[in-house]
Amino acid sequence: MNSYERFFSRAALARKPSPIRVLTKIQMVSGPEMISLAGGMPNGAMFPISGLSMKVDGSEIQLSQAQLATALQYSSSLGLASFLRHLDSLRTHYHGESSFSDNIDTCVSTGSQNGLEMLLGSLLNEGDGILTDDPMYPGTKAILRPLGASIIPIKTDGDGMDTDDLAKQIEKFKKSHNLKVIMTVANGGNPTGSTLSLERRHRLLELAHAYDLLVVEDDPYYFLQFDGEQLPSLFELDWNSSQNSFKRVIRSDSFSKIISAGIRIGWITGPKEVIGKLELATQCSTLHCPSLTQVICTELFDKWGINGFEEHIVKVKDFYRNRRNFLVASAEKHLGDLADWDVPKGGLFLWIKLNGIDDTTALIEQKAREANVLLCPGSYFAVDENAPNSYCRVAFSVASEEQMDEAMRRLAELIKMELGN
Ligand code: PMP
Repeated sequence: MNSYERFFSRAALARKPSPIRVLTKIQMVSGPEMISLAGGMPNGAMFPISGLSMKVDGSEIQLSQAQLATALQYSSSLGLASFLRHLDSLRTHYHGESSFSDNIDTCVSTGSQNGLEMLLGSLLNEGDGILTDDPMYPGTKAILRPLGASIIPIKTDGDGMDTDDLAKQIEKFKKSHNLKVIMTVANGGNPTGSTLSLERRHRLLELAHAYDLLVVEDDPYYFLQFDGEQLPSLFELDWNSSQNSFKRVIRSDSFSKIISAGIRIGWITGPKEVIGKLELATQCSTLHCPSLTQVICTELFDKWGINGFEEHIVKVKDFYRNRRNFLVASAEKHLGDLADWDVPKGGLFLWIKLNGIDDTTALIEQKAREANVLLCPGSYFAVDENAPNSYCRVAFSVASEEQMDEAMRRLAELIKMELGN
């Protein structure tokens, strides 16, 4: 098999390239002898912003007039060429050189949420099966619900998606459902903070190849792994293996947690044929991720290089690791036997099971709020939102240490009251 055709949704198959954007591309690569009266670009001379500068690590970067013109103008749907070159370097640095790299492409999206929406919408028709972590990131549920996809929940634990359960569920549903995708947050899962073990990464890929499934690796917490060695991504394991030339892993990355969330930069990397569908999806939604934020990131990487970026990542990782350690210590101090958790290996969250409480929803939504503590009940993340759920999600990203400690103290009081102690 050498085509991804069977995986595409009706919407993806129905999209056609915009002929005007094709002309725009021709115009961009042509020399000055080409007179273009075709494109619909506004004239940049009429844009009122005439200069932009920013400060990074204490030093000022002033955008040149050429960069400013690019930043303020329409650009290509896959992303700015200068920015895509940096993303390519990041890919080869962190996920290795693939001998199949001629078949790899990248589409920059307006945050990874936008990329995931375009990707899943390009793959899934109503009723098609997607096997996902349970609990899962609610933003993915929000994408899948209107698509009418059948979400098949797979158990998770401190080591991420349980691949024995995955194998069982694939066997169970392979006849009744058009199974297409396995989707997982392999590092620092949201809400669990768990990271898929190396053994399970290999097993998950074996299953994808054996049952003809694609893998969507949603990995916004890739750079926020706190302990031990960074495990190879599913993308790396698949694309760098010489075993199967039909590659199955599509990655979603994001700068939200490490550079800026408001900058809205994410990107999807995968087989050219799949990324081609995302280009068409982009053409009918955002046209492209803002040129401005792509230029800002290009400047950042021009200044940093890979070494500067790594230094920044070490700082970010240390910051969140300290906060993770603080919250875990505080939970140990206050909650003791009242709750259980796995120490999160990455990400921004502690996933706590409240012992003896069958469903945390009322306790967290009402009583904790009355006690001035906002947390997320576990039901928000369950595939079956209506089933009783004894978990809650606690973020260690923003609140001060004093606030985190006080929140754990109040939570302990609430649990004790609920249990009648
Ligand atoms: N995937 C996961 C697992 C997330 O937790 C988030 C953000 N909370 C996203 C995707 C979307 O991130 P963004 O659109 O900011 O890149």
